[in-house]
Formats: sequence, C-alpha cells, structure tokens
Amino acid sequence: MDSILNFTNEELKIELIGKGYKKFRADQIYLEIYKRYVLSFEEMTEISKLDRKKLSDEFSFLLPNINEKLSEKETGTTKYSIKLLDDEVIETVLIFADKRRTQCLSSQVGCPLGCTFCATAGLDYKRSLSVSEYISQVLLICKDYGKRPTNLVFMGMGEPLLNLDNLIKAIQILIDPSGLDFGLRKITVSTCGLLPELENLLIAFPNIGIAVSLNSTFNDKRNHMMPINKKYSVEDIFNFLIGKKKLFKRRPTIEYVLIKDINDSTTEAGNLLRLTGKIRCKINLIPFNPFPGTKYKRATEKKISIFKNILMTGKNAVTFRESAGTDIFAACGQLARLKK
Ligand code: SAH
Repeated sequence: MDSILNFTNEELKIELIGKGYKKFRADQIYLEIYKRYVLSFEEMTEISKLDRKKLSDEFSFLLPNINEKLSEKETGTTKYSIKLLDDEVIETVLIFADKRRTQCLSSQVGCPLGCTFCATAGLDYKRSLSVSEYISQVLLICKDYGKRPTNLVFMGMGEPLLNLDNLIKAIQILIDPSGLDFGLRKITVSTCGLLPELENLLIAFPNIGIAVSLNSTFNDKRNHMMPINKKYSVEDIFNFLIGKKKLFKRRPTIEYVLIKDINDSTTEAGNLLRLTGKIRCKINLIPFNPFPGTKYKRATEKKISIFKNILMTGKNAVTFRESAGTDIFAACGQLARLKK
C-alpha cells in the first residue's frame, strides 16, 4: 500500500480521482497534512467518515515515532532520535541561528562511505530512507515545534546522493507550494562528491544549494579520510565544478573540516585557495567535532585562524562557524545515536 506521504498535490489529485474520490479531496488532505500537521486520517474531521475509512483502507499513513528529544541549553539546538517502523533509529536536528530554524535531515540508516572522521561511519550501515521517511522527519518536527523549519539541510546521517531517486521525490514534495512550500533556495544537499548523481540533482533542481565535503586537497590523504576519493578524486571534483558551472545557479559551498595535524597545514590552505580560485564558491570551514573513540582532535585556534586568513586573501567568501549542538552530540559528524 502506498504511503499518503509519497505524493505531490498534483499526483494525489490524479490518484484520488482515479480511485473515485471527489475532486477537492486531494487539496483538503494536503492542507490537513502539510499546513496543519494533522498526521492521521481519523483526525481529518472535515472529511466524511466514509472517505476517511476508504482512505485508511487504500493508503498507509504509518509514521515513525520520536523516540527521544534532547536540547542543548545554550543554543536551543534539539536532536530528535526517530524510530522507524522497522525499529531502526535515525537522528534529525533542529538548529536555531540568525532567525533561521534549520532542520538537518538524515538520508540513510548508518552510512556505507567510511569517512574516518565521522561518527556515523562507525554504525552498521543498514539502508537508505524511503520518500515517506524523509517527509516524516520534517512533519514530525513541524508538529512537535508547531511551525515548519525555515531551512532544510541534507547533512545528517548517510550520503543523500546514494539515495538519489527518493531524495528527488522527497524534495518535489517538500517544495510543493500547496504543501510545506520550501523554496529551493532554502534547501542544501551536502555530498562527499558523487558527481554523476550530483549532475542529475542539479538538472532536477538548478536552484538548490550544494555543499561538497572536501576535507583535503591531497588525494593520498583524502583517499584515507574519505575512501570515496578513490572513485571521485580532488581533481575530478574541481573539474566538475569548473566544467559544469552552468549547471549551478547558486554558488556551491566547499566544506572543509579542520582536524589537528591532519589537514590544517598552510600547504593545504594554499592548495585550497588555488583550487577554489578557479570557481565562484563559498568556503565553509568546520571545526572537527569529536566523538568517543576517535583519534582525531580539532585544529588549534591559531591554526584555524592562519588557515582562514590564507583563504581570505582570495575572492570567495570564507566562513568558520562553531557547530551548535556539540553538548548533545548533535553537530556535524556526531550523529551516531550517542549520548553524554
Ligand atoms: N555524506 C554527506 C552528508 C553528511 S556529512 C557529506 O559527506 O557531505 C555532513 C558534513 O559533516 C560534511 O561536510 C562532513 O565533512 C562533516 N563532518 C563529518 N564528520 C565531522 C566531524 N566529526 N566534525 C565536523 N564535521 C564533520
């Protein structure tokens, strides 16, 4: 049985008319779910009892559960642990900053990529999320918080581009103007650099925000830190960003996690300056967020400042932002069902 959360409004109209419902039912259901966060057919009291029964016979509306909710005192950052219907657990984070409420979404249960500096890699990889699991993450948070997030980032557990079909479908639903109505400019997808999939995502949504996790400019080092580099190297990534720049309606972000004595040298900074000098982009430096069992440490303040200053001599904007949520293991690279 198809989940009611798998449809754009247009698709739902066609589906419902085909099943003999009145023409306006799809709009009504869309309004209930995506504007009022009514998350069961029984509660849709404006719909006749008969149709509610018919709907629950013909569509599933099973939602995962919020298992646990942890908030960081200082920033309000809230990490939700969500139990999926097969009992697998993922995490999603609501971050408050500069008047924005940004939700960080997971794409997979665990992650198969094996980046050495990321806590999610230490979990067993299970599977990618379904379309309705993507949508449920957002709806559960809308309902819990009472308002929808202002921004969405696909930067949680897993690699979104390993789940491209479901990602594209979920984004089509999230941007539906009669539903949650997110602008593509409010959505960012972060990837380790799966280039063919990235091209397809950009063809589908030219205005979407793209972040590419680079983390080293040397292939031997990146091979070790991010084994996917053996498939898509540093050169491949920059050749793509240069060669396909017409595909990008917005400047992509290059993400770089600064790890002590691993990738924080002035040589790396110089290489990064040279490589990014060929494109228009934003450079986002992220302090390494530690987690139990990791051998890595965050770069020192001094090294961070030197690294940043080298990049600031270029034409591209450079940001360095303290991650919110480190107190509750909710920051970048810390999503692994960890507790303090
Ligand atoms: N798979 C996707 C999205 C998940 S990771 C990707 O690779 O982009 C989201 C971001 O967190 C990436 O930029 C990644 O480099 C960064 N990250 C991973 N582990 C981290 C850690 N321990 N501290 C800080 N950032 C980390």
